[in-house]
Amino acid sequence: MSDIRVAGRPATAAQLGVWVAQQLQPGQPLYNCGVCFDIDGTVDTAALREAVRRASAEAETVRMRFTEDAQGLRQSPGHDELPFHTVDLRDRSDPAQAAELWMRADLETFADPSRDPLAAHALLRTGDERHIFYLRYHHIVMDGWAQTLYCRRVAELYTAHTEDRTPAPTPFGTLDDVLRAEAAYRASAAYERDRAHHLAELADHPGPTSPTGRTAPAAHSALRDTVWLDERRVTAVRDTARRARTRWTTVVVAAMAAYLHRLTSQNDVVLGLPVAARTGRAALTTPTMLSNEVSLRVPVRPETSFAGLLGDVAARVLSAAAHQNYRGEELHGELGRSGSTGLGGPVVNTVAFDQSVHFGAHRAVARQLSTGRVKDLSVHVYATSDTRSGIRVDFDANPELYTETELHDHRERFLGFLDRLLADPERPLGRADLLQPEESRRVLTDWNGPTVPVPSTVLPRLFSEQAGLTPEEPAVECDGTVLSYAELDARSDRLSRTLVARGARPETLVALALPRGVDLVVALLAVLKSGAAYVPLDPEHPEARIAAVLDEARPVLLLTDSGIEPRLPRRTASSTERILLDRPIDGDAPADAHHGGARSGPLPHHPAYVIYTSGSTGRPKGVVVEHRALTDYVLRARDEYPAAAGTSLLHSPVTFDLTVTALYTPLISGGCVRIADLTEEALLGTAQPSFMKVTPSHLEMLLELPDEASPDSCLILGGEALFGPALERWRDRHPDVVVYNAYGPTEATVNCLDHRLAPGVAVPDGAVPIGRPFRNTRVFVLDGALRPVPVGVAGELYVAGAGLARGYLGRAGLTAERFVACPFGGAGERMYRTGDVVRWSAGGVLEFVGRVDDQVKVRGFRIELGEVESVLAACEGVAQ
Ligand code: AMP
Ligand code: MG
Repeated sequence: MSDIRVAGRPATAAQLGVWVAQQLQPGQPLYNCGVCFDIDGTVDTAALREAVRRASAEAETVRMRFTEDAQGLRQSPGHDELPFHTVDLRDRSDPAQAAELWMRADLETFADPSRDPLAAHALLRTGDERHIFYLRYHHIVMDGWAQTLYCRRVAELYTAHTEDRTPAPTPFGTLDDVLRAEAAYRASAAYERDRAHHLAELADHPGPTSPTGRTAPAAHSALRDTVWLDERRVTAVRDTARRARTRWTTVVVAAMAAYLHRLTSQNDVVLGLPVAARTGRAALTTPTMLSNEVSLRVPVRPETSFAGLLGDVAARVLSAAAHQNYRGEELHGELGRSGSTGLGGPVVNTVAFDQSVHFGAHRAVARQLSTGRVKDLSVHVYATSDTRSGIRVDFDANPELYTETELHDHRERFLGFLDRLLADPERPLGRADLLQPEESRRVLTDWNGPTVPVPSTVLPRLFSEQAGLTPEEPAVECDGTVLSYAELDARSDRLSRTLVARGARPETLVALALPRGVDLVVALLAVLKSGAAYVPLDPEHPEARIAAVLDEARPVLLLTDSGIEPRLPRRTASSTERILLDRPIDGDAPADAHHGGARSGPLPHHPAYVIYTSGSTGRPKGVVVEHRALTDYVLRARDEYPAAAGTSLLHSPVTFDLTVTALYTPLISGGCVRIADLTEEALLGTAQPSFMKVTPSHLEMLLELPDEASPDSCLILGGEALFGPALERWRDRHPDVVVYNAYGPTEATVNCLDHRLAPGVAVPDGAVPIGRPFRNTRVFVLDGALRPVPVGVAGELYVAGAGLARGYLGRAGLTAERFVACPFGGAGERMYRTGDVVRWSAGGVLEFVGRVDDQVKVRGFRIELGEVESVLAACEGVAQ
């Protein structure tokens, strides 16, 4: 043996792979593997120690030490004695648990391949007749196959010793033979063929298929969830395999591919398959590290049946196995995906060989404690015969990517899904339920908003009721002009009668193009009281856009003033009467005249306003919001935001539905609406507001203003994604303010979800959740086939409930496209397809992920890039 000690030999390509990856995450016990055998009986400690000594002398690999020099990575035996611990745990209250803890702690020991012994043994005594034989080894010296050879030999030597027999000669081949065979392979045509096969398969791979949509550095200590497939499942798996003329392990691989496809909606799934990569006698008999991980790429379509998928996967597994010797690390390097995660994605490890040994008379089955680093999710399936019948499955997860609950959910869901696939293998994959009944209930019912009755009232009535309670209190104030509740009620009544006299009534529209000020509030309330719905126009918008809105909406009246009127389009398709609110109005109804004979106020199902948002075809679309939706929204806002009974600072234009909250909530709560721009001079000398709603982009502006410009009680953020750091600085300066991240499309009436950050509650580092659904709101996170996606998985958000708009004005086709039948509601119930991508957190709050289309938000304003594109394309001289 002394010649070997001096010379040192090259490492196998697999060992080099481990070495390089270990260098990327130095000092971490990433490659500790652990296995143990539960021995029910007495153990002769001295005999076991001797068996280990001899086995490790025969299997030179376990005593290796690694060095890198000009010739590359070298190995030479460096340790004569390997650790062998004896641990007596019989005096512990729970010896079995103490043993698990001991082994788990030992697996955290980092062993440096260039210095430390790379294998260690222990005999743990957990009872007079109960023992555990434990082995830890660094993956650079052994893989699963080698471990099996080695442990079998330890048991064999032990048994011979206790039976006083001469043991059989060593069954191990030599490392030199393995290295020779490997060198021959790498110079062969087979190597080139294997390489070509994998490159062709994966050249245009779609990237990792992770259930989380993220990657993270590999972890050494996995979360683990173990389950035994019971006899019923094992039989079902075996029967399905037999019918498909494939191995049962392939059934698990195909089911995992189907599961990932359904989870991620990807039609092209990549899985990692650990393979032994041992061909030839030397490799099969020599304990060393040779194992490989091949990437299996599987196309999966919703219309394919499980039986069809299984046939395809079986063929792919066979051809991957035929080319299993080409190293995964080399492939990743060629694909430009070197690094700690390679091609990423989940791993399915099926171990189909017998894992049982005999220590004397006692049979014991290998129990894998750790198989080395975990990149994402690794599913290990062990077809071992055991005292318990069935197949053991370990679900291991990278704790950087999964919580324990998420891992548990994946395990439950995968097995439930597997059952459904096996029960009906001919059904298209897209039609098998993915969620467990319990999980469906959670996301469809438990986490949805409670239903409460919406009072049969309308906003103008709620306002007038409030005016009756607080007639003398200030209702609205702008640039020194203040209207009390009584004055605002009276003035809006009066204007309303004028409007009614000129044709305003339910199901008609009245356009508004007015500067911000108390008169605007009078006009808004007047229109609402008349029963008509208002259409706010932004005088700053281009003439063509205003004209387009007027042409489509055909309002019966246009309320404006003499400053703005000349800027409005001259000719529009409809001959709308224009009323200048700063001039005396012809035939204005006398102040004391009674409301028109026929009481023309709105009913809950009449439209309250029409707000135009960007449309992807170049034409803005008008969202028709009915009174009942508005009532539901403002009553909830009144309950939720008591600060609106103080002073609300209104700074945004009424063309933006963000304004609804800061305007109407105070007016039905007894608060005062102060209209002002967010500038230092506009706010000079005014008292600090209590309530305000802004977009996240406004936070920067607020920070530049004196602290008194910000609310002292409640701040609502909404309209675009909110990130922790953007809020953090403002919150540091206003620690006592309740902050909400509110989410909602105009089509669901201002907002339908929010996340409340009470004072003292930490701001998240990343995206702030968009929270939970409001009362009377049901939200669904769905895949392309309108099925709920699991917790933690991104899907498209659909909203149903009392807040839904009637639809888009005059656009039945578009309305039908976006407001679709709700498969989870009663007959006729609709849900709105938001185009937003979100996911449920384990705690039942929604997180915003992005868009399915290319709608963007600019300071909270919604812009469809399609609209920009089609407008640009219509310009002369612009072509694509
Ligand atoms: P709008 O109809 O103008 O209110 O725009 C609605 C869209 O704004 C939503 O569909 C989202 O894309 C985005 N949005 C609104 N609120 C939020 C929020 N709190 N976080 C992320 N996106 C938001
Ligand atoms: Mg909104």
